Amino acid sequence: MSLIVQKFGGTSVADVEKIRAAARKAIRAQRQGHRVVMVVSAMGKNTDRLLELAQEVGPNPPAREMDMLLSTGEQVSVALVAMAINALGSEAVSLTGGQIGMQTDSSFSKARIRSISTERIERLLDEGKIVVAAGFQGIDNDLNITTLGRGGSDTTAVALAAVLKADACEIYTDVDGVYTTDPRLLPEARRVDVISYDEMLELASLGASVMHNRSIEFAKKFGVPIHVRSSFSDTEGTMIVTEQESGTAPVSGAAMTPDEARVTVLGVPDVPGMSLQIFSAIAEKKIAVDMVVQNIGDGGKADVSFTVRRDDLQATLLALAPVIEAIGVEGVTHDDHVSKISVVGANMPDQAGVASEMFRALAGAGVNIQMITTSEIKISALVPRDQASIALRAVHEGFKLHEKPDDAKSWSQIKADREAGVEVETLISRLRDDALEALTLTGISVLDHQARVTLMGVPDRPGIAADMFERIGAAGISVDMIVQGYDGEDGSTSVSFTVPQDALEASLKVAEAIAASHGMRGVQGVREIAKVTVSGIGLRSHTHVATLLFETLASADINVDMISTSELQVNAVISSDAADTAKRGLEKVFAGSLG
Ligand code: ADP
Ligand code: ASP
Ligand code: MG
Repeated sequence: MSLIVQKFGGTSVADVEKIRAAARKAIRAQRQGHRVVMVVSAMGKNTDRLLELAQEVGPNPPAREMDMLLSTGEQVSVALVAMAINALGSEAVSLTGGQIGMQTDSSFSKARIRSISTERIERLLDEGKIVVAAGFQGIDNDLNITTLGRGGSDTTAVALAAVLKADACEIYTDVDGVYTTDPRLLPEARRVDVISYDEMLELASLGASVMHNRSIEFAKKFGVPIHVRSSFSDTEGTMIVTEQESGTAPVSGAAMTPDEARVTVLGVPDVPGMSLQIFSAIAEKKIAVDMVVQNIGDGGKADVSFTVRRDDLQATLLALAPVIEAIGVEGVTHDDHVSKISVVGANMPDQAGVASEMFRALAGAGVNIQMITTSEIKISALVPRDQASIALRAVHEGFKLHEKPDDAKSWSQIKADREAGVEVETLISRLRDDALEALTLTGISVLDHQARVTLMGVPDRPGIAADMFERIGAAGISVDMIVQGYDGEDGSTSVSFTVPQDALEASLKVAEAIAASHGMRGVQGVREIAKVTVSGIGLRSHTHVATLLFETLASADINVDMISTSELQVNAVISSDAADTAKRGLEKVFAGSLG
Protein backbone atom coordinates (compact mmCIF):
# COMPACT_ATOMS: atom_id res chain seq x y z
CA MET A 1 0.00 0.00 0.00
CA SER A 2 1.41 3.35 -0.90
CA LEU A 3 2.15 6.00 1.68
CA ILE A 4 1.49 9.72 1.31
CA VAL A 5 2.76 12.52 3.52
CA GLN A 6 0.50 15.58 3.35
CA LYS A 7 1.66 18.80 4.97
CA PHE A 8 -0.72 21.65 5.74
CA GLY A 9 0.72 25.10 6.45
CA GLY A 10 -0.67 27.72 8.80
CA THR A 11 -3.15 29.32 6.41
CA SER A 12 -4.41 25.87 5.44
CA VAL A 13 -5.57 25.18 9.01
CA ALA A 14 -6.35 28.79 9.97
CA ASP A 15 -9.96 28.16 11.03
CA VAL A 16 -12.42 25.35 11.67
CA GLU A 17 -13.63 25.24 8.07
CA LYS A 18 -10.08 24.97 6.76
CA ILE A 19 -9.25 22.30 9.32
CA ARG A 20 -12.24 20.32 8.05
CA ALA A 21 -11.11 20.80 4.45
CA ALA A 22 -7.63 19.50 5.34
CA ALA A 23 -9.19 16.56 7.16
CA ARG A 24 -11.28 15.76 4.09
CA LYS A 25 -8.22 15.76 1.84
CA ALA A 26 -6.50 13.23 4.10
CA ILE A 27 -9.62 11.05 4.36
CA ARG A 28 -10.05 11.10 0.60
CA ALA A 29 -6.46 9.94 0.10
CA GLN A 30 -7.02 7.18 2.64
CA ARG A 31 -10.19 6.07 0.90
CA GLN A 32 -8.27 5.94 -2.35
CA GLY A 33 -6.13 3.29 -0.70
CA HIS A 34 -3.16 5.22 0.65
CA ARG A 35 -1.65 5.19 4.11
CA VAL A 36 -1.71 8.85 5.18
CA VAL A 37 0.58 10.83 7.45
CA MET A 38 -0.35 14.47 7.90
CA VAL A 39 2.06 17.11 9.12
CA VAL A 40 0.39 20.23 10.42
CA SER A 41 1.57 23.76 11.25
CA ALA A 42 0.23 26.13 13.88
CA MET A 43 -3.11 27.73 12.95
CA GLY A 44 -2.87 30.95 10.93
CA LYS A 45 -0.53 33.44 12.52
CA ASN A 46 -0.41 31.68 15.88
CA THR A 47 3.36 31.33 15.94
CA ASP A 48 3.71 35.09 15.39
CA ARG A 49 1.24 35.72 18.17
CA LEU A 50 3.17 33.52 20.58
CA LEU A 51 6.36 35.36 19.69
CA GLU A 52 4.70 38.70 20.43
CA LEU A 53 3.40 37.38 23.72
CA ALA A 54 6.90 36.37 24.76
CA GLN A 55 8.21 39.83 23.88
CA GLU A 56 5.53 41.39 26.05
CA VAL A 57 6.63 39.32 29.02
CA GLY A 58 10.21 40.52 28.73
CA PRO A 59 13.16 41.00 26.44
CA ASN A 60 15.58 38.18 25.55
CA PRO A 61 13.50 35.20 26.66
CA PRO A 62 15.55 32.03 27.28
CA ALA A 63 15.79 30.00 24.08
CA ARG A 64 14.57 26.82 25.75
CA GLU A 65 11.39 28.52 26.97
CA MET A 66 10.77 30.04 23.54
CA ASP A 67 10.74 26.58 21.99
CA MET A 68 8.50 25.28 24.76
CA LEU A 69 6.11 28.12 23.93
CA LEU A 70 6.25 28.00 20.13
CA SER A 71 5.71 24.25 19.99
CA THR A 72 2.27 24.68 21.52
CA GLY A 73 0.92 26.19 18.30
CA GLU A 74 1.36 22.93 16.42
CA GLN A 75 -0.02 20.93 19.33
CA VAL A 76 -3.30 22.81 19.11
CA SER A 77 -3.68 22.14 15.41
CA VAL A 78 -2.82 18.44 15.42
CA ALA A 79 -5.43 17.80 18.10
CA LEU A 80 -8.09 19.75 16.20
CA VAL A 81 -7.25 18.09 12.89
CA ALA A 82 -7.45 14.64 14.49
CA MET A 83 -10.81 15.57 16.03
CA ALA A 84 -12.07 16.78 12.67
CA ILE A 85 -11.07 13.51 11.02
CA ASN A 86 -12.81 11.53 13.73
CA ALA A 87 -15.93 13.68 13.40
CA LEU A 88 -15.93 12.96 9.66
CA GLY A 89 -15.99 9.24 10.35
CA SER A 90 -12.37 8.18 9.97
CA GLU A 91 -9.84 7.41 12.64
CA ALA A 92 -6.88 9.64 13.42
CA VAL A 93 -4.25 9.98 16.11
CA SER A 94 -2.33 13.18 16.76
CA LEU A 95 1.31 13.00 17.82
CA THR A 96 3.77 15.62 19.05
CA GLY A 97 7.36 15.79 17.83
CA GLY A 98 8.44 13.85 20.90
CA GLN A 99 5.82 11.19 20.26
CA ILE A 100 7.00 10.59 16.71
CA GLY A 101 10.52 10.24 18.08
CA MET A 102 11.80 13.33 16.29
CA GLN A 103 15.23 13.56 17.94
CA THR A 104 17.14 16.78 17.37
CA ASP A 105 20.26 18.46 18.65
CA SER A 106 19.85 21.06 21.39
CA SER A 107 20.17 24.25 19.37
CA PHE A 108 16.87 25.78 20.37
CA SER A 109 15.03 27.67 17.62
CA LYS A 110 17.22 26.15 14.91
CA ALA A 111 17.48 22.52 15.97
CA ARG A 112 18.63 19.96 13.44
CA ILE A 113 17.01 16.56 13.11
CA ARG A 114 19.16 13.65 14.20
CA SER A 115 16.79 10.72 13.92
CA ILE A 116 13.12 9.81 13.67
CA SER A 117 11.70 6.56 14.94
CA THR A 118 9.07 5.18 12.65
CA GLU A 119 7.68 2.24 14.65
CA ARG A 120 4.84 4.06 16.33
CA ILE A 121 3.73 5.77 13.12
CA GLU A 122 3.89 2.50 11.23
CA ARG A 123 1.94 0.66 13.90
CA LEU A 124 -0.82 3.28 13.80
CA LEU A 125 -0.91 3.20 10.01
CA ASP A 126 -1.17 -0.59 10.14
CA GLU A 127 -4.20 -0.13 12.38
CA GLY A 128 -5.81 1.97 9.66
CA LYS A 129 -5.35 5.31 11.41
CA ILE A 130 -4.42 8.61 9.84
CA VAL A 131 -1.39 9.91 11.72
CA VAL A 132 -1.42 13.65 12.37
CA ALA A 133 2.09 14.76 13.31
CA ALA A 134 3.04 18.14 14.70
CA GLY A 135 5.40 19.99 12.39
CA PHE A 136 8.38 22.13 13.34
CA GLN A 137 9.17 20.44 16.67
CA GLY A 138 11.33 17.72 18.16
CA ILE A 139 13.02 16.73 21.39
CA ASP A 140 16.67 16.66 22.34
CA ASN A 141 18.52 14.03 24.37
CA ASP A 142 17.21 15.46 27.63
CA LEU A 143 13.61 15.47 26.35
CA ASN A 144 13.63 19.26 26.03
CA ILE A 145 11.26 20.47 23.34
CA THR A 146 13.09 22.01 20.40
CA THR A 147 11.92 23.76 17.23
CA LEU A 148 13.45 23.60 13.78
CA GLY A 149 13.25 27.28 12.82
CA ARG A 150 10.48 29.34 11.21
CA GLY A 151 8.82 27.48 8.39
CA GLY A 152 10.22 24.22 9.74
CA SER A 153 7.07 22.13 9.27
CA ASP A 154 8.12 21.60 5.65
CA THR A 155 11.28 19.99 6.96
CA THR A 156 9.31 17.74 9.31
CA ALA A 157 7.18 16.63 6.37
CA VAL A 158 10.02 15.90 3.95
CA ALA A 159 12.06 14.21 6.69
CA LEU A 160 9.11 11.96 7.53
CA ALA A 161 8.61 11.21 3.85
CA ALA A 162 12.29 10.22 3.64
CA VAL A 163 12.38 7.90 6.65
CA LEU A 164 8.98 6.37 5.92
CA LYS A 165 10.01 5.95 2.25
CA ALA A 166 6.77 7.64 1.26
CA ASP A 167 5.56 7.45 -2.32
CA ALA A 168 4.56 11.10 -2.32
CA CYS A 169 5.10 14.21 -0.25
CA GLU A 170 2.46 16.85 -0.81
CA ILE A 171 2.92 20.36 0.57
CA TYR A 172 -0.50 22.05 0.77
CA THR A 173 -0.23 25.80 1.05
CA ASP A 174 -1.90 29.09 0.14
CA VAL A 175 -0.33 29.28 -3.33
CA ASP A 176 -0.88 26.73 -6.06
CA GLY A 177 2.80 26.00 -6.57
CA VAL A 178 6.25 27.49 -6.84
CA TYR A 179 6.44 30.68 -8.86
CA THR A 180 9.32 32.42 -10.61
CA THR A 181 9.24 34.82 -7.69
CA ASP A 182 6.91 35.48 -4.74
CA PRO A 183 3.55 36.11 -6.46
CA ARG A 184 2.55 38.34 -3.56
CA LEU A 185 5.38 40.68 -4.46
CA LEU A 186 5.03 40.39 -8.24
CA PRO A 187 1.62 39.43 -9.60
CA GLU A 188 3.16 38.75 -13.03
CA ALA A 189 5.23 35.87 -11.59
CA ARG A 190 4.69 32.57 -13.42
CA ARG A 191 3.89 29.25 -11.81
CA VAL A 192 6.37 26.61 -12.88
CA ASP A 193 5.48 22.96 -13.43
CA VAL A 194 8.85 21.68 -12.34
CA ILE A 195 11.83 23.06 -10.48
CA SER A 196 15.05 21.30 -9.55
CA TYR A 197 16.21 20.64 -6.01
CA ASP A 198 19.32 22.74 -6.57
CA GLU A 199 17.35 25.74 -7.79
CA MET A 200 14.74 25.46 -5.05
CA LEU A 201 17.42 25.05 -2.40
CA GLU A 202 19.12 28.28 -3.45
CA LEU A 203 15.84 30.16 -3.91
CA ALA A 204 14.54 29.01 -0.53
CA SER A 205 17.63 30.20 1.25
CA LEU A 206 17.55 33.49 -0.69
CA GLY A 207 14.03 34.40 0.34
CA ALA A 208 11.52 32.17 -1.47
CA SER A 209 9.68 31.33 1.72
CA VAL A 210 7.31 28.89 0.04
CA MET A 211 9.60 26.06 1.20
CA HIS A 212 11.87 25.83 4.24
CA ASN A 213 15.36 25.49 2.75
CA ARG A 214 16.32 22.58 4.97
CA SER A 215 13.37 20.57 3.66
CA ILE A 216 14.97 20.74 0.22
CA GLU A 217 18.27 19.52 1.64
CA PHE A 218 16.38 16.44 2.81
CA ALA A 219 14.57 16.03 -0.47
CA LYS A 220 17.76 16.19 -2.48
CA LYS A 221 19.72 13.94 -0.14
CA PHE A 222 17.12 11.22 -0.04
CA GLY A 223 15.47 11.70 -3.43
CA VAL A 224 12.02 12.72 -2.15
CA PRO A 225 9.86 14.26 -4.90
CA ILE A 226 7.83 17.15 -3.49
CA HIS A 227 4.50 18.32 -4.83
CA VAL A 228 3.70 21.91 -3.78
CA ARG A 229 0.01 22.60 -4.30
CA SER A 230 -2.96 24.62 -3.15
CA SER A 231 -5.01 23.51 -0.19
CA PHE A 232 -7.98 25.36 -1.61
CA SER A 233 -8.27 23.58 -4.95
CA ASP A 234 -7.44 20.27 -6.55
CA THR A 235 -5.24 21.59 -9.34
CA GLU A 236 -1.79 20.14 -9.82
CA GLY A 237 0.97 22.32 -8.46
CA THR A 238 4.75 22.27 -8.87
CA MET A 239 7.01 19.24 -8.66
CA ILE A 240 10.37 19.76 -6.96
CA VAL A 241 12.60 17.01 -8.34
CA THR A 242 16.12 16.40 -9.67
CA GLU A 243 15.30 17.67 -13.15
CA GLN A 244 14.88 21.31 -14.14
CA GLU A 245 12.14 22.86 -16.25
CA SER A 246 14.30 24.15 -19.10
CA GLY A 247 17.65 23.15 -20.51
CA THR A 248 18.40 26.63 -21.80
CA ALA A 249 16.83 29.41 -19.73
CA PRO A 250 19.70 31.17 -17.92
CA VAL A 251 17.52 32.07 -14.92
CA SER A 252 14.58 30.15 -13.49
CA GLY A 253 13.69 32.21 -10.48
CA ALA A 254 14.34 35.42 -8.60
CA ALA A 255 14.11 36.05 -4.89
CA MET A 256 14.37 38.90 -2.48
CA THR A 257 15.56 38.88 1.10
CA PRO A 258 14.12 42.21 2.21
CA ASP A 259 15.66 42.42 5.64
CA GLU A 260 19.39 42.11 5.33
CA ALA A 261 22.19 43.91 7.08
CA ARG A 262 25.69 44.64 5.86
CA VAL A 263 28.62 44.53 8.23
CA THR A 264 32.07 45.79 7.23
CA VAL A 265 35.17 45.19 9.30
CA LEU A 266 37.66 47.87 8.29
CA GLY A 267 41.42 47.55 8.20
CA VAL A 268 41.81 43.85 8.81
CA PRO A 269 45.48 42.77 8.59
CA ASP A 270 45.76 40.90 5.26
CA VAL A 271 47.45 37.78 6.65
CA PRO A 272 46.17 34.21 6.80
CA GLY A 273 43.78 33.43 9.60
CA MET A 274 42.06 36.80 10.02
CA SER A 275 38.90 35.87 8.12
CA LEU A 276 38.88 32.68 10.10
CA GLN A 277 38.68 34.51 13.39
CA ILE A 278 35.94 36.80 12.16
CA PHE A 279 33.75 34.14 10.63
CA SER A 280 34.23 31.39 13.16
CA ALA A 281 33.04 33.71 15.92
CA ILE A 282 29.84 34.29 13.94
CA ALA A 283 29.42 30.68 12.84
CA GLU A 284 29.62 29.55 16.44
CA LYS A 285 26.35 31.39 17.01
CA LYS A 286 24.91 29.51 14.02
CA ILE A 287 24.35 32.75 12.18
CA ALA A 288 24.42 32.25 8.42
CA VAL A 289 26.69 34.74 6.72
CA ASP A 290 26.21 35.58 3.07
CA MET A 291 27.87 37.75 0.44
CA VAL A 292 31.34 37.73 1.90
CA VAL A 293 33.65 40.17 0.14
CA GLN A 294 37.16 41.28 1.01
CA ASN A 295 38.64 44.38 -0.52
CA ILE A 296 42.38 44.36 -0.41
CA GLY A 297 43.11 47.97 0.29
CA ASP A 298 46.34 49.88 0.30
CA GLY A 299 48.98 49.13 2.93
CA GLY A 300 48.34 45.42 3.37
CA LYS A 301 44.98 45.86 5.07
CA ALA A 302 41.67 44.48 3.91
CA ASP A 303 38.09 45.52 4.44
CA VAL A 304 35.89 42.49 5.00
CA SER A 305 32.19 42.94 4.28
CA PHE A 306 29.42 40.42 4.61
CA THR A 307 25.69 40.29 5.02
CA VAL A 308 23.57 38.63 7.68
CA ARG A 309 19.84 38.64 8.23
CA ARG A 310 18.77 41.87 9.83
CA ASP A 311 17.45 39.95 12.85
CA ASP A 312 20.91 38.53 13.37
CA LEU A 313 22.72 41.89 13.23
CA GLN A 314 22.90 42.53 16.98
CA ALA A 315 24.03 38.98 17.73
CA THR A 316 26.62 39.29 14.96
CA LEU A 317 28.03 42.53 16.35
CA LEU A 318 28.15 40.99 19.82
CA ALA A 319 29.96 37.92 18.53
CA LEU A 320 32.42 40.14 16.67
CA ALA A 321 33.35 42.42 19.56
CA PRO A 322 35.99 40.22 21.25
CA VAL A 323 37.55 39.25 17.91
CA ILE A 324 37.89 42.84 16.83
CA GLU A 325 39.66 43.61 20.06
CA ALA A 326 41.99 40.66 19.57
CA ILE A 327 43.05 41.26 15.96
CA GLY A 328 43.16 45.01 16.13
CA VAL A 329 41.03 46.29 13.24
CA GLU A 330 40.29 49.91 12.38
CA GLY A 331 36.57 49.75 12.95
CA VAL A 332 33.25 48.15 12.13
CA THR A 333 30.41 49.71 10.19
CA HIS A 334 26.97 48.37 9.42
CA ASP A 335 23.88 49.22 7.45
CA ASP A 336 20.57 47.57 8.10
CA HIS A 337 18.64 49.30 5.33
CA VAL A 338 19.61 46.88 2.63
CA SER A 339 17.93 44.04 0.74
CA LYS A 340 19.33 41.22 -1.29
CA ILE A 341 18.07 40.47 -4.80
CA SER A 342 19.14 37.16 -6.28
CA VAL A 343 18.61 35.20 -9.46
CA VAL A 344 19.03 31.45 -9.66
CA GLY A 345 19.29 29.14 -12.65
CA ALA A 346 20.68 25.66 -13.16
CA ASN A 347 21.83 26.57 -16.68
CA MET A 348 23.92 29.52 -15.53
CA PRO A 349 27.30 27.74 -15.58
CA ASP A 350 26.95 27.12 -19.33
CA GLN A 351 26.14 30.68 -20.27
CA ALA A 352 28.17 33.82 -20.49
CA GLY A 353 26.79 37.23 -19.74
CA VAL A 354 24.08 36.32 -17.24
CA ALA A 355 25.60 38.58 -14.61
CA SER A 356 25.87 41.55 -16.92
CA GLU A 357 22.24 41.05 -17.97
CA MET A 358 21.22 41.24 -14.34
CA PHE A 359 23.31 44.36 -13.75
CA ARG A 360 21.83 45.95 -16.88
CA ALA A 361 18.30 45.25 -15.65
CA LEU A 362 19.11 46.88 -12.31
CA ALA A 363 20.82 49.83 -13.98
CA GLY A 364 17.81 50.30 -16.25
CA ALA A 365 15.64 50.71 -13.16
CA GLY A 366 18.11 53.17 -11.61
CA VAL A 367 19.06 50.77 -8.84
CA ASN A 368 22.43 51.19 -7.19
CA ILE A 369 24.24 47.94 -6.44
CA GLN A 370 26.18 48.02 -3.17
CA MET A 371 27.63 44.52 -3.21
CA ILE A 372 27.74 41.63 -5.67
CA THR A 373 28.58 37.97 -5.24
CA THR A 374 28.21 35.15 -7.70
CA SER A 375 28.46 31.41 -7.38
CA GLU A 376 27.74 28.46 -9.61
CA ILE A 377 24.00 28.90 -10.09
CA LYS A 378 23.17 32.21 -8.42
CA ILE A 379 23.97 35.89 -8.54
CA SER A 380 23.14 38.18 -5.63
CA ALA A 381 23.15 41.96 -5.48
CA LEU A 382 22.76 44.05 -2.35
CA VAL A 383 20.58 47.10 -2.92
CA PRO A 384 19.06 49.86 -0.77
CA ARG A 385 15.88 48.55 0.84
CA ASP A 386 13.72 51.29 -0.62
CA GLN A 387 14.72 50.11 -4.11
CA ALA A 388 14.25 46.40 -3.45
CA SER A 389 10.81 46.04 -5.03
CA ILE A 390 11.68 47.82 -8.23
CA ALA A 391 14.92 45.86 -8.34
CA LEU A 392 13.06 42.54 -8.10
CA ARG A 393 10.62 43.58 -10.81
CA ALA A 394 13.46 44.76 -13.04
CA VAL A 395 15.36 41.46 -12.92
CA HIS A 396 12.16 39.43 -13.30
CA GLU A 397 11.34 41.44 -16.41
CA GLY A 398 14.93 41.49 -17.63
CA PHE A 399 15.09 37.71 -17.73
CA LYS A 400 11.50 37.45 -19.03
CA LEU A 401 10.61 35.13 -16.18
CA HIS A 402 6.89 35.68 -16.80
CA GLU A 403 7.28 33.84 -20.14
CA LYS A 404 7.51 30.09 -20.28
CA PRO A 405 10.79 29.03 -21.92
CA ASP A 406 10.29 27.39 -25.34
CA ASP A 407 11.84 24.15 -24.18
CA ALA A 408 10.00 24.04 -20.82
CA LYS A 409 9.10 20.51 -19.79
CA SER A 410 6.03 19.53 -17.85
CA TRP A 411 6.11 16.95 -15.07
CA SER A 412 4.44 14.39 -17.30
CA GLN A 413 7.11 14.90 -19.98
CA ILE A 414 9.82 14.42 -17.39
CA LYS A 415 8.14 11.26 -16.15
CA ALA A 416 7.98 10.00 -19.72
CA ASP A 417 11.70 10.79 -20.17
CA ARG A 418 12.47 8.84 -17.02
CA GLU A 419 10.49 5.88 -18.28
CA ALA A 420 12.34 6.08 -21.57
CA GLY A 421 15.54 5.74 -19.58
CA VAL A 422 16.88 9.31 -19.78
CA GLU A 423 19.63 9.42 -17.17
CA VAL A 424 19.51 11.99 -14.43
CA GLU A 425 22.23 12.46 -11.91
CA THR A 426 20.73 11.58 -8.57
CA LEU A 427 22.31 11.51 -5.24
CA ILE A 428 20.66 9.36 -2.68
CA SER A 429 22.49 9.43 0.60
CA ARG A 430 22.60 6.63 3.03
CA LEU A 431 19.97 7.17 5.67
CA ARG A 432 22.24 7.61 8.66
CA ASP A 433 20.18 6.65 11.64
CA ASP A 434 21.82 9.09 13.97
CA ALA A 435 22.46 12.12 11.80
CA LEU A 436 19.76 12.72 9.22
CA GLU A 437 20.69 16.36 8.75
CA ALA A 438 24.44 15.79 8.85
CA LEU A 439 26.56 17.64 6.36
CA THR A 440 26.74 15.89 2.99
CA LEU A 441 29.59 16.81 0.70
CA THR A 442 29.81 15.72 -2.90
CA GLY A 443 33.33 16.80 -3.77
CA ILE A 444 36.38 18.99 -3.33
CA SER A 445 37.91 20.37 -6.48
CA VAL A 446 40.44 22.88 -7.74
CA LEU A 447 40.13 25.07 -10.81
CA ASP A 448 43.68 26.12 -11.56
CA HIS A 449 45.23 28.50 -14.12
CA GLN A 450 42.94 31.37 -13.24
CA ALA A 451 43.71 35.04 -12.83
CA ARG A 452 42.11 37.82 -10.86
CA VAL A 453 41.37 41.35 -12.01
CA THR A 454 40.41 44.04 -9.51
CA LEU A 455 39.10 47.50 -10.26
CA MET A 456 39.55 49.90 -7.37
CA GLY A 457 37.65 53.07 -6.64
CA VAL A 458 34.56 52.06 -8.60
CA PRO A 459 32.09 54.97 -8.31
CA ASP A 460 29.02 54.21 -6.26
CA ARG A 461 26.27 54.91 -8.79
CA PRO A 462 23.88 52.87 -10.92
CA GLY A 463 25.03 51.39 -14.20
CA ILE A 464 28.74 50.93 -13.56
CA ALA A 465 28.66 47.14 -13.06
CA ALA A 466 26.47 46.73 -16.12
CA ASP A 467 28.81 48.77 -18.29
CA MET A 468 31.86 46.97 -16.93
CA PHE A 469 30.67 43.43 -17.53
CA GLU A 470 29.07 44.23 -20.86
CA ARG A 471 32.41 45.56 -22.12
CA ILE A 472 34.23 42.53 -20.77
CA GLY A 473 31.67 40.22 -22.36
CA ALA A 474 31.92 42.09 -25.67
CA ALA A 475 35.66 41.42 -25.64
CA GLY A 476 34.86 37.70 -25.59
CA ILE A 477 36.20 37.17 -22.07
CA SER A 478 34.35 34.70 -19.92
CA VAL A 479 34.22 35.68 -16.30
CA ASP A 480 33.80 33.16 -13.51
CA MET A 481 33.47 34.63 -10.02
CA ILE A 482 32.48 38.27 -9.46
CA VAL A 483 32.54 40.09 -6.16
CA GLN A 484 31.89 43.72 -5.51
CA GLY A 485 32.71 44.92 -2.07
CA TYR A 486 31.73 47.85 -0.02
CA ASP A 487 34.45 50.35 0.60
CA GLY A 488 34.01 52.23 3.81
CA GLU A 489 36.25 55.15 2.99
CA ASP A 490 34.85 57.27 0.22
CA GLY A 491 31.68 55.46 -0.76
CA SER A 492 33.42 53.88 -3.73
CA THR A 493 33.61 50.13 -4.11
CA SER A 494 36.01 47.67 -5.60
CA VAL A 495 35.12 44.92 -8.01
CA SER A 496 37.09 41.73 -8.50
CA PHE A 497 36.52 38.95 -10.98
CA THR A 498 38.30 35.83 -12.08
CA VAL A 499 39.10 34.86 -15.66
CA PRO A 500 41.14 32.07 -17.24
CA GLN A 501 44.85 32.89 -17.06
CA ASP A 502 45.23 33.25 -20.80
CA ALA A 503 42.58 35.97 -20.79
CA LEU A 504 44.38 38.11 -18.21
CA GLU A 505 46.15 40.46 -20.65
CA ALA A 506 42.97 41.11 -22.62
CA SER A 507 40.98 41.56 -19.40
CA LEU A 508 43.45 44.08 -18.03
CA LYS A 509 43.27 46.08 -21.22
CA VAL A 510 39.49 46.28 -21.06
CA ALA A 511 39.61 46.97 -17.32
CA GLU A 512 42.01 49.85 -17.82
CA ALA A 513 39.77 51.37 -20.46
CA ILE A 514 36.79 51.03 -18.13
CA ALA A 515 38.74 52.53 -15.24
CA ALA A 516 39.75 55.48 -17.39
CA SER A 517 36.24 56.17 -18.65
CA HIS A 518 34.68 56.08 -15.17
CA GLY A 519 37.51 57.76 -13.31
CA MET A 520 38.38 54.78 -11.14
CA ARG A 521 41.42 54.63 -8.88
CA GLY A 522 43.22 51.80 -10.56
CA VAL A 523 43.39 48.28 -11.87
CA GLN A 524 45.23 45.32 -10.46
CA GLY A 525 45.84 41.93 -12.05
CA VAL A 526 47.06 38.78 -10.36
CA ARG A 527 48.22 35.81 -12.39
CA GLU A 528 48.51 32.30 -10.95
CA ILE A 529 45.46 31.94 -8.84
CA ALA A 530 43.26 28.92 -8.30
CA LYS A 531 39.73 28.39 -7.05
CA VAL A 532 39.15 25.63 -4.51
CA THR A 533 35.58 24.46 -4.24
CA VAL A 534 33.84 22.39 -1.60
CA SER A 535 30.54 21.12 -3.04
CA GLY A 536 27.64 19.59 -1.19
CA ILE A 537 24.12 20.14 0.07
CA GLY A 538 23.02 22.93 2.35
CA LEU A 539 26.46 24.39 2.84
CA ARG A 540 25.23 27.80 3.88
CA SER A 541 22.97 26.48 6.58
CA HIS A 542 25.79 24.27 7.86
CA THR A 543 27.65 27.33 9.03
CA HIS A 544 30.76 25.42 10.05
CA VAL A 545 31.75 24.51 6.47
CA ALA A 546 33.08 27.97 5.73
CA THR A 547 34.81 28.00 9.11
CA LEU A 548 36.50 24.68 8.45
CA LEU A 549 37.57 25.91 5.03
CA PHE A 550 39.15 29.03 6.49
CA GLU A 551 40.68 27.01 9.32
CA THR A 552 42.27 24.54 6.95
CA LEU A 553 43.67 27.27 4.73
CA ALA A 554 44.90 29.37 7.64
CA SER A 555 46.66 26.48 9.32
CA ALA A 556 48.55 25.88 6.06
CA ASP A 557 49.40 29.59 5.96
CA ILE A 558 47.34 30.14 2.82
CA ASN A 559 45.80 33.57 2.26
CA VAL A 560 42.24 33.75 0.93
CA ASP A 561 41.80 36.25 -1.88
CA MET A 562 38.13 35.95 -2.74
CA ILE A 563 35.26 33.95 -1.30
CA SER A 564 31.82 32.94 -2.44
CA THR A 565 29.28 30.78 -0.70
CA SER A 566 26.01 29.21 -1.73
CA GLU A 567 23.90 26.28 -0.65
CA LEU A 568 25.78 24.09 -3.13
CA GLN A 569 29.34 25.38 -2.96
CA VAL A 570 31.87 27.25 -0.90
CA ASN A 571 34.64 28.71 -3.08
CA ALA A 572 37.91 30.30 -2.06
CA VAL A 573 40.33 31.93 -4.46
CA ILE A 574 43.94 31.38 -3.42
CA SER A 575 47.37 31.47 -4.98
CA SER A 576 48.09 28.66 -7.47
CA ASP A 577 51.16 27.51 -5.50
CA ALA A 578 48.95 26.63 -2.59
CA ALA A 579 46.25 24.79 -4.53
CA ASP A 580 47.52 21.24 -3.97
CA THR A 581 48.16 21.77 -0.28
CA ALA A 582 44.72 23.31 0.09
CA LYS A 583 42.99 20.43 -1.67
CA ARG A 584 44.78 17.78 0.36
CA GLY A 585 44.10 19.62 3.59
CA LEU A 586 40.41 19.98 2.80
CA GLU A 587 40.06 16.34 1.80
CA LYS A 588 41.48 15.34 5.15
CA VAL A 589 39.27 17.68 7.14
CA PHE A 590 36.09 16.76 5.30
CA ALA A 591 36.82 13.05 4.84
CA GLY A 592 33.95 12.05 7.14
CA SER A 593 31.36 14.09 5.25
CA LEU A 594 32.20 13.11 1.68
CA GLY A 595 29.22 11.02 0.60
P1 ADP B 1 2.61 27.80 4.73
O1 ADP B 1 2.03 28.43 5.94
O2 ADP B 1 1.64 26.98 3.96
O3 ADP B 1 3.88 27.06 5.02
P2 ADP B 1 4.13 30.01 3.71
O4 ADP B 1 3.57 31.35 3.99
O5 ADP B 1 5.26 29.53 4.52
O6 ADP B 1 2.93 28.99 3.74
O7 ADP B 1 4.56 29.91 2.17
C1 ADP B 1 3.67 30.28 1.15
C2 ADP B 1 3.97 31.69 0.70
O8 ADP B 1 5.29 31.74 0.16
C3 ADP B 1 3.12 32.20 -0.41
O9 ADP B 1 1.93 32.75 0.07
C4 ADP B 1 4.01 33.22 -1.12
O10 ADP B 1 3.67 34.53 -0.78
C5 ADP B 1 5.39 32.93 -0.58
N1 ADP B 1 6.39 32.75 -1.63
C6 ADP B 1 7.64 33.28 -1.63
N2 ADP B 1 8.30 32.96 -2.72
C7 ADP B 1 7.50 32.18 -3.46
C8 ADP B 1 7.64 31.53 -4.72
N3 ADP B 1 8.77 31.61 -5.44
N4 ADP B 1 6.60 30.79 -5.17
C9 ADP B 1 5.46 30.68 -4.46
N5 ADP B 1 5.26 31.30 -3.28
C10 ADP B 1 6.26 32.03 -2.77
N1 ASP C 1 4.47 27.37 12.81
C1 ASP C 1 5.85 27.50 12.43
C2 ASP C 1 6.08 28.86 11.82
O1 ASP C 1 5.16 29.65 11.72
C3 ASP C 1 6.32 26.41 11.53
C4 ASP C 1 5.68 26.36 10.17
O2 ASP C 1 4.62 26.90 9.95
O3 ASP C 1 6.26 25.72 9.29
O4 ASP C 1 7.18 29.19 11.46
MG1 MG D 1 5.87 27.66 5.28
